[in-house]
Formats: sequence, structure tokens, C-alpha cells
Amino acid sequence: MHALILILILCLSAFLQDDPYVQDRERMVRTQIEMRGIKDQAALSSMKKVQRHLFVPKDLRDNAYDDRPLPIGYGQTISQPFIVAYMTEIIRPNKNSKMLEIGTGSGYQAAVLAEIISDVYTIEIITELSNSSEKRLKELSYKNVYVKNADGYYGWKEHAPFDAIIVTAASEYIPPPLIEQLKDGGRMIIPVGSPFQTQMLMLVEKKDGKVTTKSLMPVIFVPFKRSK
Ligand code: SAH
Repeated sequence: MHALILILILCLSAFLQDDPYVQDRERMVRTQIEMRGIKDQAALSSMKKVQRHLFVPKDLRDNAYDDRPLPIGYGQTISQPFIVAYMTEIIRPNKNSKMLEIGTGSGYQAAVLAEIISDVYTIEIITELSNSSEKRLKELSYKNVYVKNADGYYGWKEHAPFDAIIVTAASEYIPPPLIEQLKDGGRMIIPVGSPFQTQMLMLVEKKDGKVTTKSLMPVIFVPFKRSK
């Protein structure tokens, strides 16, 4: 009897929230993220909140909380949930941070960041993806995310310097304009390596004008494109 009441309450709350994926999302954060060592409370609660299924194509919604990247059209992907959490934790986001993301894609990583920090600037090279993620983020009422359709290689000079930069496409080398636009004391995370091969996720730090890099882990990201 008690179990029945509990099930009814759970169904009703899912219905009222108009979000049938609440439990899938909690499970995703617990098993894929917390259990793999991510501790940043802000990152964990943001990922419990942001409705990842609204960032994937409709026919893939039931897979939105799977432990893998998913296609979002135009040959691009939304990153695996763990990678989003890992990149978020490593750049040490805080309330006052101003951040630049290269590779808006679905807008999911930008939304996860926007829950935590004050301003997210994000650049997407594919016009259709840039437009659709801008629209999605607006519909979801994110007022602190600014989307631009451009080649992110050049960064976003007008708003630099940034406390942190997240690059979500693999580049053969770290674009010098991005290093320039990183604040002193800032951190950048970027996958470096050849397209369609395993790349290395690198942490770039700038301190007293000196730039240091550290290899974090092997990853596979879609290639960093260049505008013609
Ligand atoms: N952060 C995204 C992941 C997107 S995949 C998300 O949460 O969904 C990487 C994205 O980088 C793709 O959409 C791709 O089009 C974009 N991209 C590749 N090269 C780029 C460049 N030079 N400037 C901006 N975006 C780029």
C-alpha cells in the first residue's frame, strides 16, 4: 500500500513538473558523474537541473541521459554528460566568472555553465546550430548566455579577458588568440590533437603572464573547423 502511494506521488510530481526525466537525470548525475569522482557541488546541482533531453533531437530524448555523446545534426554531437561535468569542474566556475565557450553545439554546456556563473559567451561556427541553440536558450530563459555565429579561433575580443575558456572541438594546436584572451590567473580547457583520432584534453593556465599546459586525459571530440 505504502509503495503504491509512493509511486502515485512520484508519478504526480513528474506530471506536475512536466518533466518525465527527473529520475533519469538524478541517476545520470549519481552513477556517471558523482561515482566517477566529480565533487564540485555547483556542477552537480546544475546538471541535476538542466533538462538535457531538451538539447537533443526529439527522437533521441529517451537517450538523452545515456552515458555517451549523441548526434545533434550537421555531423556534430552533444558531449557525454561526464565530459561536460569534468570540463565544468576543472575550470573552477564561480558566481562572478565570465567565461567563453568555443563550440555552442546544442547549447547544453553553455546552459550548465549559465546556472553557475554570471556571463557565458559562446561561439558556434555552423549557422544553423548557432541559431537553433540561441533560440533554445532564449526559450529556456537564459539571460546570461550570449551566442555568436563565427569562427571561435579568434575568440571574442570585445568581451575579453575571460576567467575561463572551454573549447569543445579538437584543435591541432591551441589558438593563440584564445591564450591572449585568457585573464591572468585564468584557466582554459581544450582537446588538442588530430581530427578523428584520440586527442588529449589539456588544461592551460596563465599566471603572471606565463602560460603552462598540463595533459589531463585522452578524449575524442569533433574537429575544430576553420572558416574559409
Ligand atoms: N558544447 C556543445 C558540444 C558541441 S560539439 C554542446 O554542449 O552541445 C562541438 C561544436 O563545435 C560543434 O557544434 C561544431 O560546429 C563547433 N565548432 C567546431 N569548430 C568551431 C570553431 N572554429 N568555432 C566555433 N565553433 C566550432
